[in-house]
Amino acid sequence: MTEALPPLRAAIVPVTPLQQNCTLIWCTATMRGAFIDAGGDLPRLQAAAEKAGVTIEKLLVTHGHIDHCGGTGILAEQLGVPIEGPHEADRFWIARLDEDGRNYGIEGRVFEPNRWLGDGDTVTVGNLVLDVIHCPGHTPGHVVFHHAPSQLAIVGDVLFQGSIGRTDFPMGNHADLIDAITRKLWPLGGETAFVCGHGPMSTFAHERRSNPFVADSVLARG
Ligand SMILES: [Zn+2]
Ligand SMILES: [Zn+2]
Repeated sequence: MTEALPPLRAAIVPVTPLQQNCTLIWCTATMRGAFIDAGGDLPRLQAAAEKAGVTIEKLLVTHGHIDHCGGTGILAEQLGVPIEGPHEADRFWIARLDEDGRNYGIEGRVFEPNRWLGDGDTVTVGNLVLDVIHCPGHTPGHVVFHHAPSQLAIVGDVLFQGSIGRTDFPMGNHADLIDAITRKLWPLGGETAFVCGHGPMSTFAHERRSNPFVADSVLARG
């Protein structure tokens, strides 16, 4: 008897000088996959896909910051695959990728996604279906990808282990961010593990206990 493979597998590749967690996810039934937030270091990303034996079929983007999507337009052209995400409210961030790239020392290229995403949309990767959750605050067009059967979320810069996303950028909004975390992420369940944009993984339950910004005890104090 053989054990059933989990339907989704993932590998995290930190990229760019900002050590942004690019996530390679793939469908084990079809060995087709996607990069979420291909910010840069494209040869390393290609090597990770080759090592896993995965054929990349699309690029997904959580939000328009240079470390998350500076390399996305370039990689999409190299691989001949479409780009899905983020929400169109991040169009102004994507429009400045060239300029931000020069400032951060990351190769950045402006792109037009093949599909902008909205709250309640789904995206497919092989046979996998991921839910799209619009979580504004860090940027107005930030989206989170959630694979319910795996209890896994890729949250970009919305939430970190022990912290939350910055909201001091143009169109950032602290109240929106707290709302998105507590009203849209917590209901996904405490057992849900999440990959954040920078640093180690965590679970929603762990953050609800201990995160100094959004723990239940902290928010109850108002
Ligand atoms: Zn960001
Ligand atoms: Zn980031």
